[in-house]
Amino acid sequence: MLEMKIKEKACRGCKLCLDVCPTECFIFNDETEKAEVSVLENCIACLSCDYICPSGAITHNNHHVVANFYRNIHFSQRMEKFL
Ligand code: SF4
Ligand code: SF4
Repeated sequence: MLEMKIKEKACRGCKLCLDVCPTECFIFNDETEKAEVSVLENCIACLSCDYICPSGAITHNNHHVVANFYRNIHFSQRMEKFL
């Protein structure tokens, strides 16, 4: 079964994961100013959020590797400012 976690302490609240996710799995908590997993059932395990998160805060476990096909080039380019 797919698992996804966000390390709360590592999240810097940039919202890139919300922007890049094609299936709207995340919500943003305005009080903590951190991203949270909202609807894990929607996750297609494209791993774009893992890839783009500048803090390396998002991890997936038990995902099928064939699902790792999706990259949103536009949002991936936005990551450059963090490098
Ligand atoms: S991309 Fe990473 S640092 Fe940015 S809001 Fe999402 S979990 Fe937090
Ligand atoms: S792996 Fe893809 S579908 Fe799943 S939460 Fe991340 S960006 Fe969304």
